[in-house]
Amino acid sequence: MTTDVAVSDFYCNQALSGRVEIQPVVETERVLAFHHTNPSYPVHVVVIPKEHVPSLADLGDADPSLLHEVVAVVQEVAAMVEKEHGSCSVNTNLGLYQGSRHMHWHVFHRGESESEILDMYGHHDR
Ligand SMILES: [Zn+2]
Repeated sequence: MTTDVAVSDFYCNQALSGRVEIQPVVETERVLAFHHTNPSYPVHVVVIPKEHVPSLADLGDADPSLLHEVVAVVQEVAAMVEKEHGSCSVNTNLGLYQGSRHMHWHVFHRGESESEILDMYGHHDR
């Protein structure tokens, strides 16, 4: 399925081109993780492949091993956020949820206190 919305690609056009300054968190030969330039959360890292990949569902011409490398960096960053802040969420968006048509993964902590999180999620097995 395709949509006719104008193609927007912040990552190729702004971040990877150097037009916008970014603060890297983890970088490999093919993958870059950096602090979100317009964060929605107190801790908000974005993980992207350095080459253009449309989305999780559409890897375009990318070598499938690239997805594994991206997910390995997502895993590394998520573990760092969990260790430092006690909890972490990970997501990637598709279709109309995806504002920038370059696969990117959000790794974030929403900033609630531990007691707020425990109230929210129950943790009934404690
Ligand atoms: Zn791109």
